[in-house]
Amino acid sequence: MGTDVLVIGGGNAALCAALMAAEAGASVTLLEAAPREWRGGNSGHTRNLRCMHDAPQDVLVDAYPEEEFWQDLLKVTGGITNEKLARLTIRASSTCRDWMRQHGVHFQPPLSGALHVARTNAFFMGGGKALVNAYYRSAEKLGVQIRYNAPVERLEIENGRFVAAWVGNERITAKTCVLAAGGFESNREWLREAWGQNERGEWPADNFLIRGTRFNQGVLLKHMLAQGADPIGDATQAHMVAIDARAPLYDGGICTRIDCVSLGVVVNTEAQRFYDEGEDFWPKRYAIWGRLVAQQPGQTAYSIIDSKAIGRFMPPVFDGVKADTLPELAQKIGLDVDTFMQTLNDYNAACRPGTFDHTTLDDCHTEGVSPAKTHWARTIDIGPFYAYAVRPGVTFTYLGLETDETSAVRFGGVPSDNLFVAGEMMAGNVLGKGYTAGVGMSIGTAFGRIAGTQAAQAALRQGAPA
Ligand SMILES: Cc1cc2nc3c(=O)[nH]c(=O)nc-3n(C[C@H](O)[C@H](O)[C@H](O)COP(=O)(O)OP(=O)(O)OC[C@H]3O[C@@H](n4cnc5c(N)ncnc54)[C@H](O)[C@@H]3O)c2cc1C
Repeated sequence: MGTDVLVIGGGNAALCAALMAAEAGASVTLLEAAPREWRGGNSGHTRNLRCMHDAPQDVLVDAYPEEEFWQDLLKVTGGITNEKLARLTIRASSTCRDWMRQHGVHFQPPLSGALHVARTNAFFMGGGKALVNAYYRSAEKLGVQIRYNAPVERLEIENGRFVAAWVGNERITAKTCVLAAGGFESNREWLREAWGQNERGEWPADNFLIRGTRFNQGVLLKHMLAQGADPIGDATQAHMVAIDARAPLYDGGICTRIDCVSLGVVVNTEAQRFYDEGEDFWPKRYAIWGRLVAQQPGQTAYSIIDSKAIGRFMPPVFDGVKADTLPELAQKIGLDVDTFMQTLNDYNAACRPGTFDHTTLDDCHTEGVSPAKTHWARTIDIGPFYAYAVRPGVTFTYLGLETDETSAVRFGGVPSDNLFVAGEMMAGNVLGKGYTAGVGMSIGTAFGRIAGTQAAQAALRQGAPA
């Protein structure tokens, strides 16, 4: 006997879908590839979701109206976004928190280190891990059948309709299905293929680290694309940040953050600067540095600060390389000392005096050096000095399945009437490129809830159990 709704995946999008479908009265089975102790995918690593609000709302200060949220998305994506689905996400983000609370999610005011997002982002008490645990508890209470160690390898699809899913030799039928199995960021072969070889003969993706789960291998995404599901997005587009080069290959999470880029300079392995370190605040700056480092030789760079920066950023978990003089620092990190000193001397000479203020886009900038540093530019001259090696850390990929406001998977432009998609597997509809902090969870929550509702309705319309 099959189930009404089969949900594939075990992160935020899948859980939102399962909860909504169960609340609507459908019988639900959820298949999570990971074992129980690794359940929850990338969602377990999150901290917050971006929320629209017209006036102060519980943990959110001031207002963050629809139009401002939309303009932020438009800016970071460079217009590569579906306005209808983006606005749907934005509106849903203003009403989802009460429902989340009903399922055991608690919110907290942002910590002082996250001031720039106090207005826009609601933080989960206990982080994404607590959110995921709360949703699993609630799903169990609602009777959702949860199966761990259940990676789906392929689906049976007939004329654009879901028939069954295969886990190993087991065939699992259901009336409807929600795909919420993440992107393909954990699949290093696929990343290698997507990024190709650069002009230096390097395969950049070989040096990428994966910030989240190892289970998002993109098996279902690849399968669905091969089955003719309409694709969205570009395989090289992803949320990528510059993280501690010592981070583990998978699941390093947020504690691999190196957040002193704007307080110093960043040089590549040739000891050259390559981008304006003072371009913007954290939420907007954060997601571009992974790609910038990916374009550098060896996909490695060094964030360099002096002692003036200490105490002004969230300290990384592991200490940086420390030296009393800049030449000694260069030597310790293996850079050519003369070139490094030339770069630092040129930068220091270009710094113009201003009023340093790390909380505003201040007037401390450089003149006569390329690339310029447009804010927070102060000389690097008071030891001890510190260096942190960084590498690209992939958060999640944007290639996915095209969908619409019903969250249906589409084949040749025709929406399936019983196969739906949510979360990273369709985030590329809203995020063609770029990122604004917290929108991953806004998309997964909005479309997970829609997919669950639609899947339940479609199943219940069919009457007797499958
Ligand atoms: C370190 C880190 C921090 C982040 N912080 C934030 C944040 O603060 N705010 C924010 O909005 N976003 C954040 N993100 C992004 C966010 O995690 C994602 O946008 C969101 O979690 C996606 O949810 P999802 O359910 O689509 O994917 P996931 O949570 O990754 O879930 C995918 C699930 O599918 C399962 N799966 C994969 N393949 C199969 C298969 N074949 N069969 C069965 N199951 C399968 C996986 O095991 C996993 O459970 C962060 C990501 C990382 C890595």
